[in-house]
Amino acid sequence: MSVDCIFCKIVNGIIPSKKIYEDEDVIAFHDINPSASVHFLIVPKLHIESLASCETQHQSLLGKVLLLATKLAKEQGLAGFKTLINTGADGGQEVFHIHIHVMSGGKFPKA
Ligand code: AMP
Ligand code: ZN
Repeated sequence: MSVDCIFCKIVNGIIPSKKIYEDEDVIAFHDINPSASVHFLIVPKLHIESLASCETQHQSLLGKVLLLATKLAKEQGLAGFKTLINTGADGGQEVFHIHIHVMSGGKFPKA
């Protein structure tokens, strides 16, 4: 846990979230400031700053998060969804604890 990290605080129950999933490795909760009708975040419990900090040892965790995006999207009844990982300040990252956005229903700018 990183003491100043908001997502570590959510992982540890120090600040509340609208949780939709949790297991030993991962937590998922609704984004506090949604960019689409449905917008949730999948967050590994391990404090990794960003995708750029990931190494070979994180390979299975990254795969798990991607597969979980599909599983949770199905559970939420989404017909389709957009996934997004912002990496670094120049990549639009604001919370420096790796997470994947899952969004559905909305006008998305073409990437
Ligand atoms: P990013 O720009 O990729 O780092 O995205 C960070 C996301 O975290 C933003 O979409 C925020 O709205 C969201 N966020 C920040 N604080 C909270 C919180 N306490 N609970 C839920 N989502 C949050
Ligand atoms: Zn953290």
